[in-house]
Amino acid sequence: MSAKINEDCQLQQKQQQATPGKASSPNIPKEHPRYKAMMIRENIIKGCETKVVAPAGLIAQGRGEAFDYLIGEKTANFALDAIKAAACAFLLAEHPVISVNGNVAQIAAEDLVKLSKESGALLEINLFYRTPGREEAILKVLKEAGAETVLGLSEKSAVIKELASDRRIVDPDGIFKADMVFVPLEDGDRTEALVKLGKRVVTVDLNPLSRTPNCAHVSIIDNITRVLPLLTAQIKKYKKKKKQKLKKIYDGYSNKKILRDSLVFISKRLVKLSKGIC
Ligand code: ATP
Ligand code: MG
Repeated sequence: MSAKINEDCQLQQKQQQATPGKASSPNIPKEHPRYKAMMIRENIIKGCETKVVAPAGLIAQGRGEAFDYLIGEKTANFALDAIKAAACAFLLAEHPVISVNGNVAQIAAEDLVKLSKESGALLEINLFYRTPGREEAILKVLKEAGAETVLGLSEKSAVIKELASDRRIVDPDGIFKADMVFVPLEDGDRTEALVKLGKRVVTVDLNPLSRTPNCAHVSIIDNITRVLPLLTAQIKKYKKKKKQKLKKIYDGYSNKKILRDSLVFISKRLVKLSKGIC
């Protein structure tokens, strides 16, 4: 492991020499061991400049990165099991909706559009921080990624009474009447409110201790950028199955077990890594 840290430092030095005073320059060498993660970070920072990402989104990104480190920046088996249950939830729903926030739009717009097209679920922009121009900036990103219909911006709005924040405002044709809502990188209050309203809730969150994965019905503990292509492929595969079979897979899924498995995985991994430090 120390060799890996040295390698990281050498690359960082090389990069700083190339661009003095700009340690976080987007000129990240491709051979950097954490290239993908660093590119996502740069992308989130760019999103802040265009208003797509709220300043608090930077903190969410940092927390996500920390947990991604702990799971080894790879999709683990507990996430693959949750992806299967999530695919069933999409296909069993009468009116599935994908809730889009700034971070998700910034780092995964194209994959969100692909998921929406494959699953038939509608895209709805739903923000915690509704500063002027933000919804429009996110709409632009989604449209550029190929989205046709995007909900959440019409004059018409419905309210989730259980919530105090701006997230209580939802689209009457979207989340308000949805029977399944996909809420990646969501906060706990809203997830709880959606569950209380009787909706089936599927989330993606790198932090298995966060409230959202603990109250959702299906929690995919993994990075959204890795999850979306896998989920879309799983939906495509499961489309051939009968509803009865999908229901059986969904009913056999236990979110509590998945959360337990993720914590056990992280603890075992940390013990293993601790043995490598000398
Ligand atoms: P809660 O209220 O549920 O405890 P929170 O306040 O911890 O949530 P929020 O900022 O509301 O968290 O939501 C962001 C969540 O998304 C965090 O748990 C963070 O770990 C996670 N996250 C950030 N980036 C990613 C990513 N790329 N992929 C998956 N999860 C991510
Ligand atoms: Mg929160």
